[in-house]
Amino acid sequence: MGRNSVKSIFRSIQTVYLSSGLVVEHNEGGLIHYIWDNENNIFSSVSNQTDFNRFLNDVKDSLCYLKNGSIYAKKIIDELSGCDTKTIIKYTKGSSCAPLQKKNSPAIIYFQNNDVLKLNEGEDSSYLSGALGLFHELYHAYEHNIKKVYKENLNNSDVESKYKNKAEKNAVEATNRVAYELGEPIRLDYISARPVPRYYLGKDATVTTFRKVEKNESLY
Ligand SMILES: [Zn+2]
Repeated sequence: MGRNSVKSIFRSIQTVYLSSGLVVEHNEGGLIHYIWDNENNIFSSVSNQTDFNRFLNDVKDSLCYLKNGSIYAKKIIDELSGCDTKTIIKYTKGSSCAPLQKKNSPAIIYFQNNDVLKLNEGEDSSYLSGALGLFHELYHAYEHNIKKVYKENLNNSDVESKYKNKAEKNAVEATNRVAYELGEPIRLDYISARPVPRYYLGKDATVTTFRKVEKNESLY
């Protein structure tokens, strides 16, 4: 595989900016930016739209899925895209992570595109798509960049313990609003959900695949 191969790009550090369009950067063989065109839902700087790695594809698929299926998600993505303070989406091998808490600093999201979110244990388990996991973090960014209440809400634990703090309660409720529009399962708390590899939903599962398991049906 050559230096500019898809494989080498996938291994490099990547960053997505959600502001005046989305920019993905990687630092192998020089810094390269891929600019997201929020009007046309493409990376406008990439001449060959298939020249993506899985991370870029999943960011694109997630944003399109959210915008196409949910009026509320579209509003949040549009506002973040038009905001002067950037929202940066970085690839991570770990779990997704909330934005920075400093005022006027970019909101940074670490996107784990390999997982779905398991909501309950046992035979009644439901699975939220990775795209809704991304939306949860985008909502934190919305409270950080637009509403300017993220840090305050993160430090406010005057909520039922199942939500941990007001920032998580708000993100769970906002994500449920989107889940309802998309026909995905509803999350009843913040603390019990666990990421699991998305191939548990089948080898062809994508970042926009979700599942409500019927009683007595086994996935394993
Ligand atoms: Zn959160």
